[in-house]
Amino acid sequence: MTPRVDDATAREFSRRLRAWFRRHHRDLPWRRTRDPYEILVSELMLQQTQVSRVLEFYPRFLTRFPTVHHLAEASPKRVREAWEGLGYYARARNLHALARHVTRGGADGTLPAHPEELRALPGIGAYTAGAVASFAYERRAALVDTNVARVLTRAFAPRLDPKRPRDLTRLWRVAERVLPSTGKATWVHNQALMELGALVCTARVARCDACPVRAACKTGRRSNVTR
Ligand code: SF4
Repeated sequence: MTPRVDDATAREFSRRLRAWFRRHHRDLPWRRTRDPYEILVSELMLQQTQVSRVLEFYPRFLTRFPTVHHLAEASPKRVREAWEGLGYYARARNLHALARHVTRGGADGTLPAHPEELRALPGIGAYTAGAVASFAYERRAALVDTNVARVLTRAFAPRLDPKRPRDLTRLWRVAERVLPSTGKATWVHNQALMELGALVCTARVARCDACPVRAACKTGRRSNVTR
């Protein structure tokens, strides 16, 4: 069963999370843009690579391929070279295929704003679709990656195991449940969830003492946890 989160708790959680993010977030280049292509490149790079490494490659990649059209027209060899050092080259292949897909037959290269339509594109999973919809288009769309799943589990559903597909589906429902009411606030909320998972509620340790959402978190209210 999907864990119940009442309205007041959902509102409080998101409000505290967003207030914290505004004061403590890292200034990262992909947080300064709303360009869907630039957001997509950052999301694919970040999927299996540390932020510090992506910070090196991201500007270089966008200098080489500033738009989805530049990428679509490039040879696979050039794309591969630009990605070299980031690993998991399948991500670059998918990105290249997607660029060719959205510019095919003279199409203007626009990425759709709706998560369902984004998911129909090559190489786009549920997380990336939610990220592009909320970070580029400021849509009220949920997203769950490993970090977000961990935060939501600890905060609302300590009995769920995100590695189990059925529990992960439940966590997606929780993610939707705690979204704020507007797309603009959703941008901050989703960035903040990921930032909290990276800096405070990490895989190694949950720093409940320093956590802005502790009052709304089931695990945090109980005690400090380290696991
Ligand atoms: S209170 Fe603790 S367990 Fe809850 S979200 Fe914050 S760091 Fe994670």
